[in-house]
Amino acid sequence: MSDEVILQVKDLKTYFTVDEGVVKAVDGVSFDLHKGETLGIVGESGSGKSVTNLSIINLISTPPGKIAGGEVLFHGKDLLKMPPHEIREIRGNKISMIFQDPMTSLNPFLRISTQMVETIVLHQKIDKKAAKEKAIEMLKLAGIPAPEKRIDQYPHQFSGGMRQRVMIAMGLSCNPEILIADEPTSALDVTIQAQILELMRELTRKLGTAVILITHSLGVVAGMCDTICVMYAGRIVERGRTEEIFESPRHPYTQGLIRSVPRLDQETKERLYSIPGQPPNVIDLPDCCPFYPRCERAMDICKKKYPPVVSFENNQSASCWLYGKEAQNV
Ligand code: SF4
Repeated sequence: MSDEVILQVKDLKTYFTVDEGVVKAVDGVSFDLHKGETLGIVGESGSGKSVTNLSIINLISTPPGKIAGGEVLFHGKDLLKMPPHEIREIRGNKISMIFQDPMTSLNPFLRISTQMVETIVLHQKIDKKAAKEKAIEMLKLAGIPAPEKRIDQYPHQFSGGMRQRVMIAMGLSCNPEILIADEPTSALDVTIQAQILELMRELTRKLGTAVILITHSLGVVAGMCDTICVMYAGRIVERGRTEEIFESPRHPYTQGLIRSVPRLDQETKERLYSIPGQPPNVIDLPDCCPFYPRCERAMDICKKKYPPVVSFENNQSASCWLYGKEAQNV
């Protein structure tokens, strides 16, 4: 990972207006992504991680959604202010995405060759023959056996794991600077999951691609990411380098997530921990810590004010009153 920051997300806010009120799905998210970095965004369903990433590439459907504020600077240019033809040039080319279920991205009626070649021709401005050669090379890199033959097959002729390999090959075929992977392995069984994550790690490191990996599983980020942002109720509540987050998680939510990961290296007869309660309804959330109904360490102040972001020596930070100086005075 280099020191060069290629993407800066600053105070991003994405709201959805529904009959019941305003859903603040993303409410003031900020982070930097460095060249070649793998950043994990972790949280339960509804924490805002997927909406954050759809907002980054300006794919929020309006209405009901709306980017209510903030900036997404890619090499200093704000993606949120770009005209549609410019952002289309970046999407799929400089920044590409892969999703949980490849069948939502692959057209079942078109051969893999048609889908990959079209994308490469569109973005790389090369002829069809060269694009097909590039597509075959990428499928080979992604571990698809006999790619020269399989490229002319349809998506249903591939297993779930192989389809996800095709998606990774497609996602990386235009040499993007950033790959956004949204729960790329959740629909796969555990052994295939491990293979796909290993493949992603190997290919992105080889090609120098930065990755934003969205997942609900801390187990997935542990082996894959350099840095982690933990999201809760539309905000980042803790961030830091992966080993530091695992070694000394500061926020009670992160601590709960880590306690809920099954450990094969420890023998215990206790039931696996799960965080009590449910994620909050993010419609018209009050301005206090949204985790307090589930937090074993909640204090009075937590119910009254949103906690400040507190930074620690190792660049880790957490948004929690346990570390806020003001908590001592209230
Ligand atoms: Fe728990 Fe309070 Fe920290 Fe929220 S601010 S996580 S309720 S201690």
